[in-house]
Amino acid sequence: MARYTGPVCRLCRRDGMKLFLKGSRCDTSKCGIERREAPPGQQLQRRGKMTDYGLHLREKQKVKHYYGVLERQFRCYFKKAEHTKGNTGDVLMSLLERRLDNVVHRMGFGLSRSAARQLINHGHVTINGRRCDVASYMINVGDVIRVKNRSKSLDLVRGALAESRHDVPDFLSVTESDIPEGIVGRLPLAEDVSIPIQTQLIIELCSR
Ligand code: SF4
Repeated sequence: MARYTGPVCRLCRRDGMKLFLKGSRCDTSKCGIERREAPPGQQLQRRGKMTDYGLHLREKQKVKHYYGVLERQFRCYFKKAEHTKGNTGDVLMSLLERRLDNVVHRMGFGLSRSAARQLINHGHVTINGRRCDVASYMINVGDVIRVKNRSKSLDLVRGALAESRHDVPDFLSVTESDIPEGIVGRLPLAEDVSIPIQTQLIIELCSR
């Protein structure tokens, strides 16, 4: 699946908030947005108040950048959320939180979602004992996510766990034994998302 490969600190500066796309660097004084808060590009810096459409668009872009999904994939999640019972915004955030790359990152096995995605793509992760190299795989309640019992895989994950400074969310439980593993206790809710998102703006934009 295609992904964004450009400079990521620009995305945080463009969205006006920390999206934690660079792992441990995001928690240091080297963070791009802490050094330079203005949006990237001279044109944007000169621009005045944002339009109503701009506000809606920024909210959607923020979510896409945060989870590392592109427009087409995001539209698929939105369509699925629309056709699922419940509040569309809450369902949308829950679907995105259930992505395997997000879960692996939130368990601390990868310092960023892109690092977690690489870990998955390179076959270092198993689900319920079976190798899974699909970053967009949707986790379910009771799934056991484990690192492969290989020295390279274990070294990568142990290094990330040692450096990780973010708390594991309530819907997951992580055991840092010989082979680190995490269990999905329940499906994630909109409240489990670690950045503030105004889902109403996204719904208004995508329903036009
Ligand atoms: Fe965003 Fe991290 Fe870059 Fe800071 S260091 S601007 S949080 S990607």
